[in-house]
Amino acid sequence: AKKPHIVILGAGYGGMMAANQLQKKMGTDRANVTLVNKHDYHYQTTWLHEPAAGTLHHDKARVEIRKVLNPAKVNIVQDTVEQVKTDEKQVVLKNGDDLSYDYLVIAVGSIAETFGAEGVYEHSYHKWTLDGARELKDQIEFQFAQYRNQEEAEEQDLTFVVAGGGFTGIEFIGELTERVPELCEQYDVPREKVRMYVIEAAPSALPGFDPELVEYAMNLLEHRGVEFKINKPISEVQEGKVILKDGEEIAASTVIWATGVRGNPIIEDAGIEANRGRVKVEPDLRAPGLEDVFVIGDCSLIINEETERPYPPTAQIAMQQGIKAGENITNLIMGGAPTKFEPEILGTLASLGGKEAMGTVKERKMYGRSALFMKHMSDNRYLMKLGGLSLMLTKGRNPL
Ligand code: FAD
Ligand code: NAD
Repeated sequence: AKKPHIVILGAGYGGMMAANQLQKKMGTDRANVTLVNKHDYHYQTTWLHEPAAGTLHHDKARVEIRKVLNPAKVNIVQDTVEQVKTDEKQVVLKNGDDLSYDYLVIAVGSIAETFGAEGVYEHSYHKWTLDGARELKDQIEFQFAQYRNQEEAEEQDLTFVVAGGGFTGIEFIGELTERVPELCEQYDVPREKVRMYVIEAAPSALPGFDPELVEYAMNLLEHRGVEFKINKPISEVQEGKVILKDGEEIAASTVIWATGVRGNPIIEDAGIEANRGRVKVEPDLRAPGLEDVFVIGDCSLIINEETERPYPPTAQIAMQQGIKAGENITNLIMGGAPTKFEPEILGTLASLGGKEAMGTVKERKMYGRSALFMKHMSDNRYLMKLGGLSLMLTKGRNPL
């Protein structure tokens, strides 16, 4: 009989873990596995606030896919997925020939959500990808580099607005506060010329998170010069400024958008039922009504049975889903039944720049260096799983 073809789209946390699981559990005599990704590298989305602010080199946050997956077991295709045709069981690629699949794993991540705010895609830095991080880093440096060369510098030149005080916004501004003093020194710019804002729509930054930890983070960031505007939704971004719903305008040459995510548009284009681009998957991670399509990571939506609300999309969940999708496809091919995905939430840790972080681990609150230590240990554990000790030693974080 013909060997089934398993196609994985996207080499993020979900896709890499699915491929890793399949290469371990499924012999090449049983199935062919293909992984399609835009780049020949996998990047750590969860670290991107660092290269974006310029506090970590972007190469540290990426890994060549061929170095961590076995090309003899997984066929690695560098291409951009343009369309998924579930009726024909085909994937349309930008450059190569269409791919036919027997089982598909969609793991192409997310894009910025705008909630109807205008001008976001045109006038803000909204791409939380390695390329996006690199571009933002250069933009920040450029603003400093040009400052002294102008006849008349304007306040907006060194004003940085972060839209959204969620985890991405908070982690990014934390790094920026560490980078700004270095840039001021490097480009002879007085520190007081630089303004950093976080603008948040909800009545608190990090809405829903532990209030003590939120206060800790905000105090620390304010101390480093961040100005928070809370309860102030942004309604529009224009070139050189943001406009708030209450009419206030803030002039800023650099606007960083971080108000949450929606599933990759590939999902909606495929006609798969979705909510903000995310597929509410069956307990075994398949898309409703599609027996051969698994959707994982930021493209998927799963409900927390205790709170009856969706889990926020995280790398933690994406990785676990990747492993489960790999297991369930193996089961199906071996004639068994797929099983239910049950996330194990170990905690939430956010870095705040320098040696600072905060968050919860198994519901215990953690602050400062010890929180950062735990965060780096968890990053290192992932690298260990992905590529063993050598990967952890080359790309891992020094937890101390
Ligand atoms: P991703 O990891 O984003 O990977 C998607 C992959 O698909 C990418 O490699 C991309 O190149 C590829 N791709 C996209 N489109 C195409 C296409 N058309 N064709 C081919 N390939 C394509 N979560 C945590 O749990 N802990 C954290 O500490 C944390 N920190 C974060 C910090 C930041 C700054 C950000 C932005 C997010 C953070 N998150 C964190 C959230 C986490 O990064 C995401 O939930 C996670 O990356 C989702 O994994 P994924 O596999 O769905 O997608
Ligand atoms: P988020 O949904 O966590 O936060 C977005 C914030 O933007 C919210 O506080 C929201 O109220 C605010 N907002 C929405 N519209 C706005 C507007 N028009 N103007 C101003 N503010 C507005 O999204 P995120 O921070 O982009 O994170 C995306 C996902 O990645 C989340 O699931 C998050 O948990 C996860 N993440 C986790 C970590 C971590 O664990 N350390 C770090 C980054 C991201």
